[in-house]
Amino acid sequence: MTADALTAKIRRLIALNGPMPVSDYMAICLLDPDHGYYTRSEPFGKDGDFITAPEISQLFGEIIGAWLINTWRRLGRPTPFVLAEAGPGRGTLMKDILRAGTIDPAFADAAQPTLIEASPKLRAVQAATLADAAGRTVWLDSLDQLPDLPLIMVTNEFFDALPFRQFILHEGKWVERCVGLNEEGVLQWQLGTAQLSTDQIPANITQAAQEGAIYEISPSRENTMAVIAKHIAQHGGAAINFDYGHTETAIGDTFQAVKKHTFADPLDTPGNADLTSHVDFDALSRSARTEGAFTFPIMTQGEFLLQCGLLERAGQLGANKPSALQVQIRADVQRLAGNEPEDMGDLFKVFCIAQSDQVALAPFSQ
Ligand code: SAH
Repeated sequence: MTADALTAKIRRLIALNGPMPVSDYMAICLLDPDHGYYTRSEPFGKDGDFITAPEISQLFGEIIGAWLINTWRRLGRPTPFVLAEAGPGRGTLMKDILRAGTIDPAFADAAQPTLIEASPKLRAVQAATLADAAGRTVWLDSLDQLPDLPLIMVTNEFFDALPFRQFILHEGKWVERCVGLNEEGVLQWQLGTAQLSTDQIPANITQAAQEGAIYEISPSRENTMAVIAKHIAQHGGAAINFDYGHTETAIGDTFQAVKKHTFADPLDTPGNADLTSHVDFDALSRSARTEGAFTFPIMTQGEFLLQCGLLERAGQLGANKPSALQVQIRADVQRLAGNEPEDMGDLFKVFCIAQSDQVALAPFSQ
């Protein structure tokens, strides 16, 4: 079985190299070329392991599509421009964006749809979803390959899927928390050898931390944001990112595995569950600003969608439709923008960057 093959591979690597950083474990589990979760499976949707905002309702992509058109106009209608999405899953969000984009033919003509996707299997799914835009959609392996054009970009649940590392306060030192093996060869948490010095950690965190506290960093996410920000600072544009996480760097173990819509142990059945952690938007903001981009104050997904007219659009979608559909639309709106524990409205944040502070990009304040 594939999962067993992946576990055997991880065991071999640990036996060779010693305990494995969470970042390596996550990269192997998600994107191993043969057995990785994203390389092998199509996990999204009600029948899969987890559901994302674009898979809940077309409203999500339509609202974002309208926001992207407005943003393109405010940026001076750059033509042509790269309309990019990183980590597009099944391609549903881009499909809804392109449909909404036809409202403004000049926007639709200027847009060069570009998907950055690591999984060949998901690329094939995206190609099928986007069959109507087949001739003009481009796939890239990495953001470094973006052409030198203005960039208007969106991501949803992309950054949380990029690897991160954990450090645990152990006897006064911040030691890397790694995946090792017990005597029976079963995966278990162990201390690694790498350490962070206190000057690499914000002072408010080192001052408050108790023995056993966990501090997470993600060079991969920060580098990815740096590449996007550098591109936008140089060539113009904006990027809007939806993800769960915290607006201030904080202490805590946020590593999570999700399988069939429930939480699982991240060390159980490698390659068979989605692995993520909460995104540190504070760290992403610092990274974007270092590259010279402007960062807007972070909004919650609920605030963003409601201020962009989610309720009005939902009303139009449900008008003169059977009552069962209207009930479903109301439930979808609640899930996308509500603030009950199951809802995404508060948990998900919206982080937007642009070339400069010269252009107002409502509903973000400046
Ligand atoms: N945005 C989609 C899917 C989110 S899941 C949605 O909202 O439904 C994460 C996505 O990021 C998957 O498509 C996964 O294959 C992709 N991905 C993960 N790591 C990546 C990387 N390093 N480069 C490009 N894509 C990556």
